[in-house]
Amino acid sequence: MARAPLYAVVALLAAVALPSAGAAAKGDEHVLVILASAGSKPYSVAEVQRTVSQANAFFEISSFGQVRLRVDVTPWLPVLATSSSCGLSTRGLDAVVAPARQAADRAGFNPDLYDDVVYTLADSHCGFLGETLGHQIMLTREPTVPLLLHELGHTFGLGHAQASDCTTSPVRCGIEETGDTLSPMGSGMLDFSAYEKYVLGWIPSQPHVSVLKRYVLAPPTSVSNLAQALIVDTSQGSWWIEYRSQPFRGLVFRFIDSRKPPSQFAPSAVLMLRPTKAGRPWIVKGETYRIPFSFRVTLTRATAGRAEVRFRP
Ligand SMILES: [Zn+2]
Repeated sequence: MARAPLYAVVALLAAVALPSAGAAAKGDEHVLVILASAGSKPYSVAEVQRTVSQANAFFEISSFGQVRLRVDVTPWLPVLATSSSCGLSTRGLDAVVAPARQAADRAGFNPDLYDDVVYTLADSHCGFLGETLGHQIMLTREPTVPLLLHELGHTFGLGHAQASDCTTSPVRCGIEETGDTLSPMGSGMLDFSAYEKYVLGWIPSQPHVSVLKRYVLAPPTSVSNLAQALIVDTSQGSWWIEYRSQPFRGLVFRFIDSRKPPSQFAPSAVLMLRPTKAGRPWIVKGETYRIPFSFRVTLTRATAGRAEVRFRP
């Protein structure tokens, strides 16, 4: 599904109070979904609740039960002007959503009592489908599971999951802003990456590879005492290597460029879409990938529960 263009960036970030860096998402996350329109009811509250519960199920599995969405959905609130354009560039998100916010409060849902607020604005004319600022999300169409996961990921502090077609250094090729075909922070629906799970506090610190030897690695899909990612530090940034055993068995490589300036979100990881000529974003047992300016990495054993990985110069 080509979703990349949906997340247009609106250049008003500087005018908004930003959350501190250092994301985390644990425990109950209280989310209020406010349905606001100029009078129409283009989809039902029940449909939204169903979507939200699917998003919650995804978070529960991905975090091994460490985060749970607690979501309330308002009835449709007919508070938007018929001709409302979003006008984000001139008014800012707070002004755009103010009528919806006040109407929700009057309907018995105090937005101040929630960790995150999702505004779904029907009958509006905006040039984008989803926009997150701090802990407020504005959607201009019916929420879908991928859209909710992506925008909530932003409120938790995650940046985009990027990707590169390069077989060598991603610095030399173009980077697709939401090109990660596995993570919801890109264009995928497999799972949040090990790197993202570390940023969110779902898995602990992971070992840095300093000695060239065999390492044992478990998939980042349940609690484990084994390493759930291996980090290789280079002069250009860090490589996060993770092992997946479902729906494929392979090693996935992502690069985090340490020379990028800090932003409101955690630094993006760049998925290597073609670590080998096979053209899939992982290597299988027996294959080797040379990390640019660093080691050669071979997947030597791949079972349901663990992998063995060999590092050579
Ligand atoms: Zn985004």
